[in-house]
Formats: sequence, structure tokens, C-alpha cells
Amino acid sequence: MMAEDGRNMMEPKSSSSDPNPCPICLGPITQDSYLDQCFHKFCFNCIVRWTNTVASKHFCGPTSVKCPLCKTENLSIIYGYDGSSFQQHYINRDLRISEFFSEAHRYRLKCYYIEPGNLADKLNVLSYWKSHKYRQQNHWLHDWLRREIQAVTQEEDVDVIVHHILGVIDSFRRDEVKHSNISTEMKQEAFKLLVSQAVGPFLTGRSGRFVNELELFLASGLKIDAFDKVYIKHLGWKIPEISKEEEESDETPEHEPAVPYLYILDQDSDDN
Ligand SMILES: [Zn+2]
Ligand SMILES: [Zn+2]
Repeated sequence: MMAEDGRNMMEPKSSSSDPNPCPICLGPITQDSYLDQCFHKFCFNCIVRWTNTVASKHFCGPTSVKCPLCKTENLSIIYGYDGSSFQQHYINRDLRISEFFSEAHRYRLKCYYIEPGNLADKLNVLSYWKSHKYRQQNHWLHDWLRREIQAVTQEEDVDVIVHHILGVIDSFRRDEVKHSNISTEMKQEAFKLLVSQAVGPFLTGRSGRFVNELELFLASGLKIDAFDKVYIKHLGWKIPEISKEEEESDETPEHEPAVPYLYILDQDSDDN
């Protein structure tokens, strides 16, 4: 599914001869996104990467970005249009110069614009639920949540949200032991629904994805930096600040077809 020219491997393998390809990756457009002034259309991932690349060449954060096609100055990227509403990503967030928004924040934010592929298997999500590992405390969860929410909201002060989520997870743990007759799958679903509802007001359209990311982090049992390395390696990204000692050869990472969010559950629903 990797194109010969090495372009974006996250893309569906569909139509090779798209009449309106993305001007940046030349592939079929994934997640339609428009620049707000000229309305040129790109993949969200491509145009965000473009603006980040442009931003990295500025001394201070830029307040606009030139369209790579027509050079018009644009102030934001419009995406997620579903017929009635859309989301807007502003260029002038000055993320380059704000102290809290690190390279790691940037990478986490970017993760929300792509399909991560099959990380659930790699990070043992099923075994996390089946072997009741969710009953254990995760000592890195607070810090991970803080960074994650900061990355997604692009706000520094997220303590209220973080404590809210931690409270919800604690209460899930407390209640869970009382319901030993409920299947593992139902517990997993209940957990995800609970957290999704808790973050909904803050993360809106990103809530579902956030819950999946949270599950991946918890299931991995890894410290934050180890989790990052596994994640980045899986995506095949090169982020020297995060994965420095693991700069390996140019081997192309294995990319699974993107089937996120589908957890294939074992037939024998156990409750050991
Ligand atoms: Zn593209
Ligand atoms: Zn344009």
C-alpha cells in the first residue's frame, strides 16, 4: 500500500488516478481541508505539516501562511466540514514560541490528524482488559494526560480537565470491582463511554480519538517517553528530539492498513 514514490502511506489505497489530488502529496485528499482565504484544498495532514514547516523557518511564530499553490496569505485552515459545522485551525497560535508547547506536544497533536493504524495489537489493548490490568494505578497517567490535553486543546492550563478525567477513571476502578459479572468487553466499552462523556465538553470532536489514545497509553504500560518511541516508530516518523537514540536505518516501517478503533474481540468472552 506504499506508493512507489514514497508518498503518504496512511492514505487509503483507493483511486490511483484521482482527478483532484492533494497538491502537496499528489495523492487522493484525506480529510478535506481548505485555506480560509483562497480556498485551495489539501489533506489536513499535508497542509498542517506545510504550515509547521513554514513556521519552523520563522524566528517567531507566523500569523499567516502562504498557500503553496497561489501564495495567498491565509490565517487558518478549515477542516472537518460535515455539512453543518467545521473546525478551524489558526496559524497565529504562536506555538513555536510558547514555552509549554514542546516538540512532544506537537507530535501528539499531529497524531490526531492521522490514522494511527493498528497500534492496539502492538500495545496489547486486549490483554490489558482481559487480564484486568486496568485495576492497577498508572503512575505516569497524570503527566501523560496533562501533555495530551495540552496538545489537543493547545492550551497550557488544563489542570481542571486532567483532574476531572483522573476522577472519572478512579471512580470507574472503584465501581468496576462491584460488577464482576459484567464481561470484559462491556467493561471496556463502559470505560470508553465514561471517559468520552467526561472529555466531550472540552475536546468535542476529538473525544472519541482521545479515548482511544488513552486506552493505548494505559494498555502499553509504558512510561511516556517509551510510549512515544513506540508510537513514533510505528508511524515511521522521524522526530530527533523524541527518538534520538533510536535513529535507525532508512528501513521502511511496516504499515498496517488503517483500521483504527475496531477491536477484534475474542470469541470466548472470558471473565477469569
Ligand atoms: Zn495530501
Ligand atoms: Zn491558494
